[in-house]
Amino acid sequence: MDVIGLMSEHLKTYQEAMINEINLLMNFRAVMGAPEKSPMEYLYMLEQYRHEKTGRYYYLERPFRSFYGALPSEEIVELYELDTVEDLFSFEFIKMSERDIFIKKCTNCERFFIPRRRADAEYCDRLFADTNRKCSEIGAMLRYEKKVAGNPVLEAHKKAYRRFHSRVRAKKMSQNEFRLWSDEAVSKRDACLAGTLPFDEFVAWLEQGRLRRARGGGR
Ligand SMILES: [Zn+2]
Repeated sequence: MDVIGLMSEHLKTYQEAMINEINLLMNFRAVMGAPEKSPMEYLYMLEQYRHEKTGRYYYLERPFRSFYGALPSEEIVELYELDTVEDLFSFEFIKMSERDIFIKKCTNCERFFIPRRRADAEYCDRLFADTNRKCSEIGAMLRYEKKVAGNPVLEAHKKAYRRFHSRVRAKKMSQNEFRLWSDEAVSKRDACLAGTLPFDEFVAWLEQGRLRRARGGGR
């Protein structure tokens, strides 16, 4: 293997280690839940966990050389000197924890992201696959579609919804009629999901619209 291949393998190993680390940190946060711990407490828990497993700490007691320097703008800043890529990763990780930068995993593409607008964001702002749309734009829809695909009640409702909606587009049904139908369909769908309306009756009700249209030849 050539030098570049070796270096990229090496880098990949650290990258994977860091991904594990972030996953572990997120698990700790999920398991501990409320009351929220401070960011450094999670780091401490991570280290305790590692110490139990391996007998050593990874972040604690690991010195970094730091000093003060001046920027061209004459601002004095704290600077760090890092020798290895491994040091760089662990340094970044500590700083991320210290500054309470809350990393999350995108519910859609499963990559890490830092929520910028709201802490409870579930989706990242990357473009998803070849859709040209961001996860934050289409994630909820894709999740709903996945849910629909596994649920006959939702599936039946979706099909009927599309059918009726296309009638509005074809001007065979008014917006108002559609809204009335849609409201009723949603409450019947929810009743069916809750088990108070039998599935067969729900489907029969949805189909009834189709028959009416066939007989009436559009309105
Ligand atoms: Zn994403």
